[in-house]
Amino acid sequence: MRILIAEDDAAIVSFLVKGLKAEGYATAVAATGDEASRYLASSHETFDLVLLDLGLPGTSGLDVLTTFRRRDASLPVIVLTARAEVADKVRGLELGANDYVTKPFSFAELLARIRATLRSSSQPTTNELVVEDLRLDLFTKVAWRGERRIDLAPREWALLELFMRHPTHVLSRTRILNEVWEYGFGPGNNIVDVYVSYLRKKINFDDVEPLILTVRGAGYRLVAH
Ligand code: CA
Repeated sequence: MRILIAEDDAAIVSFLVKGLKAEGYATAVAATGDEASRYLASSHETFDLVLLDLGLPGTSGLDVLTTFRRRDASLPVIVLTARAEVADKVRGLELGANDYVTKPFSFAELLARIRATLRSSSQPTTNELVVEDLRLDLFTKVAWRGERRIDLAPREWALLELFMRHPTHVLSRTRILNEVWEYGFGPGNNIVDVYVSYLRKKINFDDVEPLILTVRGAGYRLVAH
């Protein structure tokens, strides 16, 4: 999980970076509105959540949010706001912030908000993905095929989760590369095929319907129909 911290107060930034790191989150820091916008617009950067101070120098936090939400409606944003900025806080929620925390805040309070926001944004209705007899528990990160437990490496997990979120779609190699691997690989690279073959070995058994079908010239699909 990677969090963008858009905040110009160095003391708050240092407190957040240390606290989040200790909780296992990776972070990036933007000290101005423009820098935050650049991070959010970059195709090389991926974040799971944004902590956005409304009182940023340059482009304000509200402007950053307005522009960003036109492009991405799903990345969760928690607004950090001083008590005097209550009207801005309301405006922030109207503009698509998922939650807000009023300064000064305790790290425990912020962490609870972050966890709740990440939970509700990634798992709106359930913490389980089920396709036929294949089951992914998104909380415990355990996969099952029928009664068999399947141990997956992180990249295999990400690949299977992508297939299970789009079980009937044909997913092209390019799309899979873009969604599962952060860095672009050349078109001749066969890493997707290699990982699909790893995954097939783990989820397909002699006595069950094989999943992850090759669609010639197009890519892969989880189920036949
Ligand atoms: Ca500020």
